[in-house]
Amino acid sequence: MNVYFDNAATTQLDPEVLDAMLPLLQTHYGNPSSIHGPGRQVRAAIENARKTVAHLINAAPAEIVFTSGGTEADNYAACGTVRPLGLRHGITSKLEHHAVLHTMQALEKSGQLQLSYLRHDERGRLDLAHLEELLATNPRTFVSLMHANNEIGNLNDLTAIGEICARHQAVFHTDTVQTMGHYKHDVQQLPVDFLVGSAHKFHGPKGIGFLYRRAGQTVDALIQGGSQERNQRAGTENVYGIVGLAKALEIAYRDMADHQRHIQGLKDRFIAKLQAEIEGVEFNGTSAEGDQSLYTVLSVSLPPSAFNEMLLFNLDISHVAVSGGSACTSGANAGSHVLSALGCDPARGTIRFSMSKYNTAEEVDYAVAQLAKIYQKRRVLS
Ligand code: PLP
Repeated sequence: MNVYFDNAATTQLDPEVLDAMLPLLQTHYGNPSSIHGPGRQVRAAIENARKTVAHLINAAPAEIVFTSGGTEADNYAACGTVRPLGLRHGITSKLEHHAVLHTMQALEKSGQLQLSYLRHDERGRLDLAHLEELLATNPRTFVSLMHANNEIGNLNDLTAIGEICARHQAVFHTDTVQTMGHYKHDVQQLPVDFLVGSAHKFHGPKGIGFLYRRAGQTVDALIQGGSQERNQRAGTENVYGIVGLAKALEIAYRDMADHQRHIQGLKDRFIAKLQAEIEGVEFNGTSAEGDQSLYTVLSVSLPPSAFNEMLLFNLDISHVAVSGGSACTSGANAGSHVLSALGCDPARGTIRFSMSKYNTAEEVDYAVAQLAKIYQKRRVLS
């Protein structure tokens, strides 16, 4: 059996999405900036996609800017806002994805922002009293705090954070890469100025995302050149990506209730089976707590063992694809900054199982059985 439990890293393309993209790859090849018929046809496809995305999150089409993905959308919001709004202070947390953390740190290094880190407890729960405190002395701040953590799955309360930001006239950007397509975001209800989406996290293509920027927010363009995306993002548009993103989000919203039920069921099964099969298993952050955790992610902490370093490798040999922390850092072998910030015991092993609509209960049973087998072997050897 081959099983893929690394859906927080990326997801399988939905065949319906591929079908929507194919005409743009095969027959509709006009440049959307051209004024002739083939160009106008592709322009219409882009604008329809923009309307779809806007409608789904209850925004206006002009508030959606397509980008190359979540990383670019995060960079665009942070780098593009500071200068025109004259912001001098930024607040984020050490648990953010590097797309936010490194961007905010670069702004600090270049002298554009003074940066403060929000306190959190050992389970990654943010200290919102600290946010109040920081904003009381530094109003007009750029605040960037994610909706769900990509490594441990902790969910933050966007409404509570947004209301605090609004009270202090702070600009609130939230990295919603892991929750877009998995929860319904309604920007008329959420007190946020910016949020982001990345299609490959919800069964769309890679290399395409978007930034929602609330009307009235002034943002400097990130890429200079032509007038695409209303002068906000120059360069010929990734048209099949844009169409694919809109289709993927449409499907995600259409089927969300069923998928959420299915995936939460898989997660509950994982937790119960792991607890039954592996002595001393724990869960990082609030990963095992229903309403405080993203239902697609389970971050498992395994008891110390000299063999923990080979855990992912051994699972891979058994055809179980998972991540240790975040796939984004595993290539550089840098370890997890999130688990370090939580003060996790480095001797314990960490596995992130992340699930999608395509996973099954049999796959959960297989993955746990393989892990238990590896773990039994270790206990005999150690
Ligand atoms: N933010 C979070 C929370 C993520 O999990 C990721 C990807 O893993 C990103 C940003 C980056 O998104 P993209 O791969 O679209 O650049």
